[in-house]
Amino acid sequence: MNRRCFAQSVGGAVALSALVRSSVWGESSSQTPGKVMAIAAHPGDGLFTMGAVLAQQISRGGTGILLSLSLGEKGAPKDIAVHRYGEMQRTATEKAARLLGAEAIFLTYPDAEVPFNEESTLAVCDGIREHKPDVIVTHWSGSWHKDHQNCHLIVRDAVFYAALETLVRSRPAHSVSKVFYADNWEDAANFVPDTYLDIEPIYEKWMQSCDFYPMWRGQTGFFRYNDYYSSLSIMRGCLSGFKHAVALMSDPGQRMARSRSL
Ligand SMILES: [Zn+2]
Repeated sequence: MNRRCFAQSVGGAVALSALVRSSVWGESSSQTPGKVMAIAAHPGDGLFTMGAVLAQQISRGGTGILLSLSLGEKGAPKDIAVHRYGEMQRTATEKAARLLGAEAIFLTYPDAEVPFNEESTLAVCDGIREHKPDVIVTHWSGSWHKDHQNCHLIVRDAVFYAALETLVRSRPAHSVSKVFYADNWEDAANFVPDTYLDIEPIYEKWMQSCDFYPMWRGQTGFFRYNDYYSSLSIMRGCLSGFKHAVALMSDPGQRMARSRSL
């Protein structure tokens, strides 16, 4: 194994040019990229940590939808009212999604108060049943942010509810074939990526979509989102043999591989 091979298989991870549809056993059933649903606590998380995945799937012939559980309005700077900032976040998200060819939808729970309960879980379950994604990307649990933690738990249970035939809702059951967790600076505890996605073809467009948010360039806070996520994509690319890459962590429940030979 030379250094390049080592880099491309670092940590046993796989490097992919697209997330393809697969069966519940992880066997690819189609080379057509499927529908990806990104579910984020706040719109910025959706675009900065999951937007490249959406854009990449769409560019390969798949479809993408972003569900934000809140508007992230409490990140407002002192000179902008919280309500107005929330609407700015909504507008930025709609513009960003349009640029990427994705759909943007919202559940307007209060920022910093996204609840993990039966109501929020069923609301996300209904969204999954309505939009029928093949793949979901959401927050990893190792976060200091309570909204991110709750989003992780909501999605975990919503995926289960969505597939449960005997749980009667307005729409029929839908099974999601894969769940991935996004590489987020706020969700870094015990985040171990195992999938690297080539995002070079859509890198510039993804950067433009993030630029709709004032927070992207540090105008509303201290964190340099643009520098962090643009350089992270280079670092992840170095490890996977791509120019720019996004690293994802698959759900532990879907890591079992079935094979009749090695
Ligand atoms: Zn967030």
